[in-house]
Amino acid sequence: MSVSPSDPSALAKGVLAGERRALARAITLIESTRPDHREAAEALMHDLLPHTGRSVRIGITGVPGAGKSTFIESFGLHVLAEGKRPAVLAVDPSSPRSGGSILGDKTRMEELSRDARAFIRPSPSGCTLGGVARRTREAMLVCEAAGFDVIVVETVGVGQSETAVADMVDMFLLVLVPGGGDELQGIKKGIVELADAIVVNKADGDLAKAAARAARDYKNALHLLAPSSPHWTVPVLTCSAMERSGIDDVWTMVAGYRDTMDKAGALAERRSAQAHAWMWSEVSETMLQALRDDPRVERLLPDMERAVAEGRMAPGAAARQLVETFRLPLARP
Ligand code: GDP
Repeated sequence: MSVSPSDPSALAKGVLAGERRALARAITLIESTRPDHREAAEALMHDLLPHTGRSVRIGITGVPGAGKSTFIESFGLHVLAEGKRPAVLAVDPSSPRSGGSILGDKTRMEELSRDARAFIRPSPSGCTLGGVARRTREAMLVCEAAGFDVIVVETVGVGQSETAVADMVDMFLLVLVPGGGDELQGIKKGIVELADAIVVNKADGDLAKAAARAARDYKNALHLLAPSSPHWTVPVLTCSAMERSGIDDVWTMVAGYRDTMDKAGALAERRSAQAHAWMWSEVSETMLQALRDDPRVERLLPDMERAVAEGRMAPGAAARQLVETFRLPLARP
């Protein structure tokens, strides 16, 4: 899709008017890595920012196969039935460029993606976690400005993308399945500590009893962890995304969380801490990119990397030399 970066304010107007085409183009613009597009994207974000902040931002994680996409579809359809509009974004830095994104598969969330009131956007491909996280944060704000009430950010339960997602949402939800008694199914303890709620999915048929048992076990295990917030006790719910049962309870819980945290002032606090951290992560991304793009650093880098790899130079000393080279004033031509 071609993007015209020349008129970000027209694009912003289109987004605010809820035009779908403008929304898609705005997100394509913020995903672009071209420097002139970045400038236009910043102008766009500046125009949209006053119109953001009204949605519920939910992060969802869980191991592949836990039923995240099935859950998001059922949840999204429930949100629609409540008269609200859902947008779904993905953070999947591990996906290969060839459309292997976690939302790239067209068969996923089929019913939700057919509904014109919903919006589903796969993860931008071909960039680092930092890059994906930056774009997803901005895409989330664009969706809010376009009038979406619930933003779901999906991430696969591997690597560090959970932390990045937990740092951009109001509520982080962990989807688990009834496992044969094994502790938290290979989900790292650090991730469980990020969770504001746990949902045990696949509570249907033969698995229903095991799901109830798993929910009890998780509840007990949670007592051993520090609570994610002093205002909130992490609940453990069961549901069947496939049979679409228990989804209404999850929605009621999400709404309750939003309300409780809002009244306690904790939501505003969390968002403002996130904005602060976001600024600093932008600083590091931008600085690192500028350093990598510096022609003097580029010249020095291959030899230096080799020297470090071969143990001829200490990594710390190499890093300092690279940064110092970058800080020298550029020679006039
Ligand atoms: P994801 O990898 O976490 O996104 O998982 P998917 O949504 O793709 O689901 C993985 C598999 O679990 C699929 O075969 C689904 O049909 C199945 N599944 C998802 N939700 C449920 C559920 O509530 N009950 C049962 N029995 N199976 C489910």
